Amino acid sequence: MEDDPDFAEGARRLFAGPIEFLKSAPELKFLPDATVPEIAFAGRSNVGKSSLLNALTNRKTLARTSNTPGRTQELNFFDVGKPVKIRLVDMPGYGFAEAPKDMVQRWRVLINDYLRGRQVLKRTLVLVDARHGLKDVDREVMTMLDKAAVSYNVVLTKADKIKASALDATLDWVRLEAAKHPASHPILFATSSETGMGIAELRTALLEAALI
Ligand code: GDP
Repeated sequence: MEDDPDFAEGARRLFAGPIEFLKSAPELKFLPDATVPEIAFAGRSNVGKSSLLNALTNRKTLARTSNTPGRTQELNFFDVGKPVKIRLVDMPGYGFAEAPKDMVQRWRVLINDYLRGRQVLKRTLVLVDARHGLKDVDREVMTMLDKAAVSYNVVLTKADKIKASALDATLDWVRLEAAKHPASHPILFATSSETGMGIAELRTALLEAALI
C-alpha cells in the first residue's frame, strides 16, 4: 500500500483535513472509548515530538512545543478525519535528567495502564533524536512496549541537524539494535519537522498501520 500513489494521496488528504483535540487523560478512567484506531507518540522530552505532530498534521500549534519537566503527565488525544479515522495519542515525554522518582513512576503507571489491553492501539512511534541515537531510557521504553506486545517504529527526529553520512550510520546501528526487540517494526524513519523530510512517508505508514 505504501508504494501506491493513491494511498499516499489519501494519507496526505487525511492529515490535511479536519483534526481536533479530543481530550487529555491524566488517569486510565479518563481514556476515550476504544472505538477508533490509535497511533501513539513517545519520546524523551525535547526529542521534537510536538514539532513532529504539528508537521504531520500541517498545524503550527496542535501540540504544544517545549514541554517543561513540571508539566502534568497526561495522554493527549487528537482525532484525525471527520468522521474520525485515526486517533493520535501524544504521550508525556520521558527521561528528564532531573525528574523526581515519583514522577518517573507515575509515567510508568500511566503508560502501562494505557498499553495494557488497548486493542485499538495499532502502532507506537518511539521518537529518537538523530544526533544521539538510542539512549538507555529509550531502550527501557522499547522493552516496555515489547512486554505489552505493542508494535512500534523507531523514528529519528531532527535529521536536518546532521550530515547525510552521519544519519545513515545512525540509522544502521539503531536498525540493528531495534531488530533485537520483538515488537519493533523493521522500518525506521528519518524525519525533520524543519525540512519536511520523511513526513509524507510517515503519514502513509500511519494510515496503513491504522487500517490493519
Ligand atoms: P518535545 O519536547 O519532544 O515536544 O520537543 P519540541 O517539539 O518542543 O522540540 C524541542 C526543540 O527542538 C524545539 O526548539 C524545536 O524547535 C526543535 N526541533 C524539533 N524538531 C526539529 C527538527 O526537525 N529540526 C530542527 N532543527 N529542530 C527541531
